[in-house]
Amino acid sequence: MWKIEEEARKYMKEKLIVTQVITPELYERLAKTTAIYPKEKALEYLALGLTSEAGEVAGKIKKIIRDGKGNKEAIAYEIGDVLWYCAVLASELGVELNDIMKNNLQKLQERKEKGTLQGSGDRR
Ligand SMILES: [Mg+2]
Repeated sequence: MWKIEEEARKYMKEKLIVTQVITPELYERLAKTTAIYPKEKALEYLALGLTSEAGEVAGKIKKIIRDGKGNKEAIAYEIGDVLWYCAVLASELGVELNDIMKNNLQKLQERKEKGTLQGSGDRR
């Protein structure tokens, strides 16, 4: 059994969760178990990693434009790397990934209702 699977089982027993779905909370907790970086440079390291992985997503999509074909699984794999950095960065900031997800959806829903999904600016 993989170490990460052991962690997941232990966590689910603690929380009495019976599910096949990885929740944001569980993902964040398990992602932290694979995080290796100098703690004094955590935010810098994670921000660089996040942008680097986002660049890998962009690079694979760029090649689809160039070559007219691509590999969705490879893009999804890189999205997973982006997610890992988001989860660990959220954890370093002391913010739950689940709250970030909920707040983001609420913001977008409010923009949709106000008709301001298009446009620019953080506060619209
Ligand atoms: Mg990657």
